[in-house]
Amino acid sequence: MSDDTRLADLQRRMADELAAADDPTAALDARLLLAHVSRLTETELALKANEQVSAAIVSAAMTLTDLRKAGKPIAKIIGVKEFWGRAFRVGAAVLDPRPDSETLIDSALAILPDKRDLKLLDLGTGSGCLILTLLAERPNARGLAVDKSRAALRIARLNAHRLGLRARASMRTGDWLAGIAGHKDMRFDMIVSNPPYIARDELSTLAPDVQFFDPRAALDGGADGLSAYRLLIAPAMDCLNEGGYLVLEIGATQAEAVSGLMQSAGFQNISVRQDLADRDRVVLGQKQAQKTG
Ligand code: GLN
Repeated sequence: MSDDTRLADLQRRMADELAAADDPTAALDARLLLAHVSRLTETELALKANEQVSAAIVSAAMTLTDLRKAGKPIAKIIGVKEFWGRAFRVGAAVLDPRPDSETLIDSALAILPDKRDLKLLDLGTGSGCLILTLLAERPNARGLAVDKSRAALRIARLNAHRLGLRARASMRTGDWLAGIAGHKDMRFDMIVSNPPYIARDELSTLAPDVQFFDPRAALDGGADGLSAYRLLIAPAMDCLNEGGYLVLEIGATQAEAVSGLMQSAGFQNISVRQDLADRDRVVLGQKQAQKTG
């Protein structure tokens, strides 16, 4: 491109290249990538459309366009994904936050009791999008986020810091509830999780941006996709306060199996919630309050 390239010209060239590579959201992606490279908001980008850009910006923008053309998801290129109205840092070590998981937030916020010192636990926190969103929405809550990946926890910690939630969010490495169940000081009012739930032989059918760029450990749910639920549902009961809730994201075909596991573990008031596409997406259950008298 010539020396007098304007932002608008560059944006159009990026969008054209992405469209030619069959990117279904070419215009949007071009805008997001260019805003990232030029360190402008999308609004500033529109306002400055006629300003000239440096050769360095052009070259950086075209490098990112090539990554996108090779199938890398936008969030993994720019390192940020929006979830429930907040920006979360992401990276190779974590699943990109998805709109699907906003169903879990919606369900959780609707039932969180309005008590002081609410305690929340997130298993397999990844970017931290679930627990940090709940903490941000409920200033009276504290939370513990667990992940077995140290790299994921570094990202969750960074997100807690960026959202001003460090004081209320603890992080620890661990495998589901190991080291938490059986510890009498570890009791929570709500446990949430978006565990890996894809059946192993379906992993190869996932969209390329998921299959090749989201971490396998966040997707692979074992032979039938239910391994993580089997590991975490029964011990979760021991870690809940009376009246506390377990709120789990599930794959669209897993409502019956996961509800069954919750029932076997003694959960009450089990119910299933649907996502915006009307697919089963969340199962929740309650630990019964101890009867008095
Ligand atoms: N919702 C993700 C997908 O279908 C899967 C996430 C998970 O296994 N928890 O791509």
